[in-house]
Amino acid sequence: MDEIREPVELRRRVAAVRCAAGTIGFVPTMGYLHEGHVALMRKARADNELLIVSRYVNPTQFGATEDFGRYPRDERRDHQLAAGAGADILFVPDDETMYPGGPARQQVWIDPGGLAGHLEGAARPGHFRGVATVVAKLLHLVQPDRVYFGQKDGQQSTVIARMIVDLGFPVELHVLPTVREESGLALSSRNVYLSAEQRREAAALSGALQQAWAAVLTGERDAPTLVRLIGSYLREHAPSGRMDYVEAADLATMAPILGVIGGDTMLALAVFFGSTRLIDNGMIRFRDGQPFWS
Ligand code: AMP
Repeated sequence: MDEIREPVELRRRVAAVRCAAGTIGFVPTMGYLHEGHVALMRKARADNELLIVSRYVNPTQFGATEDFGRYPRDERRDHQLAAGAGADILFVPDDETMYPGGPARQQVWIDPGGLAGHLEGAARPGHFRGVATVVAKLLHLVQPDRVYFGQKDGQQSTVIARMIVDLGFPVELHVLPTVREESGLALSSRNVYLSAEQRREAAALSGALQQAWAAVLTGERDAPTLVRLIGSYLREHAPSGRMDYVEAADLATMAPILGVIGGDTMLALAVFFGSTRLIDNGMIRFRDGQPFWS
């Protein structure tokens, strides 16, 4: 696997594969890789002739009081994991490539509109503007045929899907299931911040979602009831956690559902353990009136 910093060199490699009618798969990450990232890479590896993984901790998607300065990094391990998953190229652009002259000079941004007005977007103003803008830049640099994201960041996938359609990016989006520890805890680079006790309690995030899904299976369709169930499960099983939000959202618009759920729905939550903020979600999709969970 080659580590590439220069866009010119990246483009040369991409052009060579495209000339030979090969497809390019792309997995954007912020590094500190784990098995969740590896699952995306494996799928992208299987689907494409060239696999490019990027690592860039994007400053513009972090709020002023968030963890940009202390976001975990381990470049050697990232290299090993990406190479082990079969990546051909680890693209590590520098700040000057991504934000010529610095983010403060940038004038043109991608505005994800109403999609960013809820859930993560409401809790982290400006977050999805930063995400959409950096993903657009990376798609231009890499020019992949297929790009792979995790359901773990469910609203992010919706924003990117919308951006691809609205702005006509010639790329296929693949969203893959959340990879979890045996406890149910969704793998996340930020789990490294958790104490042993917080990590134990954090398993309640997926437990709460499972509890809500169990209620759906027995016929419950009232969104506020599902949200209450999740909240009380979290209060009981994660007493040191501080809930940021718990919501049932329309999967297409991300708007909260205030009554009965009848269409595709995301149950989403964010919980602080100390200053560490974890998110998780589960999707309820209906086919022929039957609910399915992912
Ligand atoms: P990040 O490095 O956190 O920006 O994540 C890079 C990509 O990996 C995003 O598409 C995430 O949704 C995805 N990802 C992060 N955690 C997981 C997980 N536990 N399972 C599947 N995908 C994940």
